[in-house]
Amino acid sequence: MDVRRRPVKRHLQRSLKQQDSGEFLNHHDQAKASDVLPLPLYLTNGLFFTMFFSVMYFLLQRWREKIRTSTPLHVVTFSEMAALVSLLASFIYLLGFFGFDFVKSILRPSPASWIIEDENMEEDKPVKPCGQALIPHIMPTNPTSETEVERKKPPPTFEYDSEENEEIIKQVVAGSIPSYALESKLGDCKRAAVVRREALERITGKSLVGMPLEGFDYESILGQCCEMPVGYVQIPVGIAGPLLLNGAEFSVPMATTEGCLVASTNRGCKAIYVSGGATCMLLRDGMTRAPVVRFGSAKRAAELKLFLEDPENFDTLAVVFNKSSRFGKLQSIKCAIAGKNLYIRFCCITGDAMGMNMVSKGVQNVLDYLQTDYPDMDVMGISGNYCSDKKPAAVNWIEGRGKSVVCEAVINEEVVKKVLKTNVASLVELNMVKNLTGSAMAGALGGFNAHASNIVSAIYIATGQDPAQNVESSHCITMMEAINDGKDLHVSVTMPSIEVGTVGGGTQLASQAACLNLLGVKGASKEEPGSNARVLATIVAGSVLAGELSLMSAIAAGQLVKSHMKYNRSTRDMTKLAT
Ligand code: ADP
Repeated sequence: MDVRRRPVKRHLQRSLKQQDSGEFLNHHDQAKASDVLPLPLYLTNGLFFTMFFSVMYFLLQRWREKIRTSTPLHVVTFSEMAALVSLLASFIYLLGFFGFDFVKSILRPSPASWIIEDENMEEDKPVKPCGQALIPHIMPTNPTSETEVERKKPPPTFEYDSEENEEIIKQVVAGSIPSYALESKLGDCKRAAVVRREALERITGKSLVGMPLEGFDYESILGQCCEMPVGYVQIPVGIAGPLLLNGAEFSVPMATTEGCLVASTNRGCKAIYVSGGATCMLLRDGMTRAPVVRFGSAKRAAELKLFLEDPENFDTLAVVFNKSSRFGKLQSIKCAIAGKNLYIRFCCITGDAMGMNMVSKGVQNVLDYLQTDYPDMDVMGISGNYCSDKKPAAVNWIEGRGKSVVCEAVINEEVVKKVLKTNVASLVELNMVKNLTGSAMAGALGGFNAHASNIVSAIYIATGQDPAQNVESSHCITMMEAINDGKDLHVSVTMPSIEVGTVGGGTQLASQAACLNLLGVKGASKEEPGSNARVLATIVAGSVLAGELSLMSAIAAGQLVKSHMKYNRSTRDMTKLAT
């Protein structure tokens, strides 16, 4: 009997895996058997019911006839054989759908009233309704309504021996196996995620239905991108472009859930494209790290500052700094003093890596070296916030961090009118009162733009950058000026601290690597180390230029709310993009 049911179950399992990998978007329909059948459930059920009873009726008629005419029962005609096969097939189908759960419900009633049995579930597995705490007293005692049935939880996986898993889950719940140790204990990252997720649901009493588990390579994040995974969050990726930048065309991947953002950036790309493209220049390239060290006196701190900033000592310090990487090369050292505390801002090129690890290793080399001549130097922290990483700071805005770029385009009068639906004078005036004066009034730090961070974040997430570095990477001043007797628009974005890499971190994960590949900057550059990361920085700036053009035009033309209503018909705040 079990064997006969298996094909149906396998279909269901495959269907549920497809849901996990995001192929089915409607959560309310997820666990329906009809998902795996070519016809709706009521039709297939009706079909097999009809077949079963009509064939049964036909066979009974034939047997009655045989008995009446004294024909041996085992002598069967072709039509009787076909009828027998149909009877068997419909019987298996009906049994598969209704038989087992019926028998199970009689033999083994649920141990608690809040446990729901599901035909899609692994047998014996208690199921938690989605989004509900597993607290018996708040659950309905007879969860039979359609909504409750639809909320049944699909099984997390079918690939592992559920009994073995069950044992480990229990131990994790009991605390005898730490959740963080599952990968090393099981030697199987996916299984560790399955077990951890189930244990988490039991411990918290909260369901993770809706967060996919299947369709992700958990080995690829081990020790590098994320600890203690229980699944992954899906973010749609849209494409803006082509962005015509420095003579090359780029299709820009943007991972976002912000309606309008990709469409708007795409419009900006079009305006740039038909105006002949944008030009982007790299001004500076260097990742920074600034440890804080403390001395017994401000005098001693000042002595070290003078030593480190003396050009004569630079070569020696560079040799020490550079020894831990082929790509990390020290470029400069800049110090700041606060009493007895010295902040040493090391800046180095990092090839195609964003470079935080690389620069930190180099800094450690120098600190170890300095300790010999400055034994009274107390290293308070490898990072003293003068770097400055992932925090708004004037030092990045003024000195730059990562890649400093400037990107410009001239947008023809016609294009401003036809594509951007506004005029040059309005754009220039709006830029002055909003991005320059308005931001000055707000005391902005690097925020002299309309929405650079929208574009930066979306590209960062798509291409595996560190999204927290959006803080300083989005520093941007947008300038607009009427040129050619006021007919055309000169627009530029200056971004001093774009922190990007094409190797390391999240860039090697499959989907992020695919986005980098689309841009032609995946991995380490073979020709010239660092050139992939530099091109990526120019793409970020070019896309920001497109985003600025489009949003500013929408605001100038009073279209912002209208376009959001068109592309994002929700009730949320439509002015959000106009930050
Ligand atoms: P980050 O320093 O950005 O945190 P990682 O240290 O994770 O980056 O990754 C950089 C690693 O990639 C280093 O081990 C480095 O030796 C290696 N690598 C290979 N090719 C390159 C390249 N072209 N540029 C920079 N690093 C590279």
